[in-house]
Amino acid sequence: MSLMVTLTGTQGGPAAFSGLAGPGTLVRYGDDERDLLTLQFDTGRGTTMRLSQLGISPEQLDAVFFTHMHSDHTEGFADLALLRWTFHGTGPKLDVVCSADVVSQRGFTISGRRFIAHVADAFIQSGEIAQRHSERADRTAGGPTDLLNTVTFEPKDEAALVWERADVTVSAVRSTHMAGHVSYRVDTPHGSVVIGGDAGNDRLAPPRASSTSDQVERLATGADIIVHSAIHPVMGPDNISGMYPYAYYRQSNVFDLGAMAQRAGVKHLMLTHLIPPIGADRQGPFTVPGGPLTEAAYRQVAQDGGFTGNIVVGADLVSLRLPVRMQCTP
Ligand SMILES: [Zn+2]
Repeated sequence: MSLMVTLTGTQGGPAAFSGLAGPGTLVRYGDDERDLLTLQFDTGRGTTMRLSQLGISPEQLDAVFFTHMHSDHTEGFADLALLRWTFHGTGPKLDVVCSADVVSQRGFTISGRRFIAHVADAFIQSGEIAQRHSERADRTAGGPTDLLNTVTFEPKDEAALVWERADVTVSAVRSTHMAGHVSYRVDTPHGSVVIGGDAGNDRLAPPRASSTSDQVERLATGADIIVHSAIHPVMGPDNISGMYPYAYYRQSNVFDLGAMAQRAGVKHLMLTHLIPPIGADRQGPFTVPGGPLTEAAYRQVAQDGGFTGNIVVGADLVSLRLPVRMQCTP
C-alpha cells in the first residue's frame, strides 16, 4: 500500500501562464493495482484535463475539498461537476468538503455551500441541463448539483476530523488568507500529507515572526509531506514588482516555508501555486524584478530558510509516493 501525492496544477492566483493548470492536489491511497481512495484538494483551472492525464475521470473521485473560495482554487469545479453528471448522471454522490459560511471582516458572507449549490446555474439558465435531461432521463433533473453531497465544518485553531473512510482520515484547521480559509491533513497507515493551501500568518503584515501559519505548523508537526502555496520574496512590496502589498503578505513566502517545514520536522516540502511561475517575466499585471525565476531560485530560498529535507519545486503532475521506493539500476 502507498500514499501518492500529485500536483494537478501549480499556477498561483488568477493569472494564466504557459498552459499551467490552476491549483490542485490529488491524494491517492492504494496499491499497485488500483487506488482505493482518490481525494482532490482544490480544483483550479484545467483540473479535469490534468486528471485525464493520470487516467482519472471525475466519477472516480471519492471527495473534493476546498481550502477557500478564491476562484483560482474553484473555477475548475463547474467543469468537473458537469462532466460527472453528463456521463454518470445517476451518481453516486460526490462528497464536497469546505468551511461553513463565515462573514468576512468587510461584512461579506463567504459561502462554499452556496458556491457548490449554484455551480451549475449558468448551464441551467442556458437550457442545456433540461435539454440533456430530456435526452436521457437517467441524468438527474436538477443537474450536476443533484450529485454533490456538501459537507461543511466550523474550522478551529486545533485540528478536527472532517472526513474519513476506512483507515484514512482528513482533519482540518482554520488558517488565514481570506475568511473561511482552511488547511487539511490526510493521515493514512503509510504516510501523511498536509495541504496548506494559501495559508498565511494571522498577523496580516510585518512586523511579525513569520509569514506562515502557526496553525498549519502545528497541523504539520510529525507529518511526512507539506504541500503549500509559495510566493517568492522577489515579489515583495519593498521591491519593484508592483504587487499589491495585501496580496503579497497574505501568502507564505518561500523562505518562511523552509523554516516552518524544518520546525515541523517534515521530510518533504512540495512548493506549489508558485508566484511567480518559473520562467514568467510577469505575474498577471506585476513584473518579476530581475527577470524570470528558475526552479533553483525557489529551492535555494527554501534552503536558506533552513529546510534540510527534500524540496519539490512544483510543476504540473509532479508526484511523491510514500513509502519512497529505492530505484534499482540494472
Ligand atoms: Zn490562490
